[in-house]
Amino acid sequence: MQIKRLKLSGFKSFVEPAELRIEKGLTGVVGPNGCGKSNLLEAIRWVMGENSPKSMRSGGMDDVIFAGTEQRPPRDFAEVVLHAEDDDGEDLDVMRRIERGAGSAYRVNGNDVRAKDVSLTFADAATGAHSPALVSQGKIAQVIAAKPTERRQMLEEAAGIAGLHVRRRDAESKLRSTEKNLERLEDLMAGLD
Ligand code: ATP
Repeated sequence: MQIKRLKLSGFKSFVEPAELRIEKGLTGVVGPNGCGKSNLLEAIRWVMGENSPKSMRSGGMDDVIFAGTEQRPPRDFAEVVLHAEDDDGEDLDVMRRIERGAGSAYRVNGNDVRAKDVSLTFADAATGAHSPALVSQGKIAQVIAAKPTERRQMLEEAAGIAGLHVRRRDAESKLRSTEKNLERLEDLMAGLD
């Protein structure tokens, strides 16, 4: 998967709609301290389904919405759109929008989807909010200090098998509910004898 464009509106310091084009090769973002460079990386993680406010350097998820300045009132929503091309060359547009007090909604290629669908889309492409390819400040030290289980997670993300765990949990939960249904059925049949 290749990320091509990132559009932000009302996300953290990006109060005005902004677009970052990621061309082939190296894309550099330069600017003074505090101008929003790290916020761009966080926007990529957020649109991919990041749900931990801490890893967004926020107290709560609503904190990603532009909080206002002395000159500008706060916003009521934040929106990030990621445009990518998958490995088959197909376009992929993922949008996440959060409204104050109302939580997040996701769209993929214009259709409403669940957060889990978005996470799976990226996990299957060996990327995603926790991808080791997204290296934030302090992350290198974190990798060095990581516990073996955390290192395994990183390797699984890199190998593109992270999505399988989610599918396995889903399958196990379906199996459990089917087993319960079967037990009920046996009880009912026993009652009929
Ligand atoms: P450095 O070079 O120091 O790492 P940076 O360019 O990476 O800085 P960021 O950390 O991305 O900068 O941006 C921090 C800025 O974003 C701060 O000025 C902060 O006030 C602003 N900011 C963060 N969240 C919000 C928000 N919800 N509303 C408005 N501004 C915000």
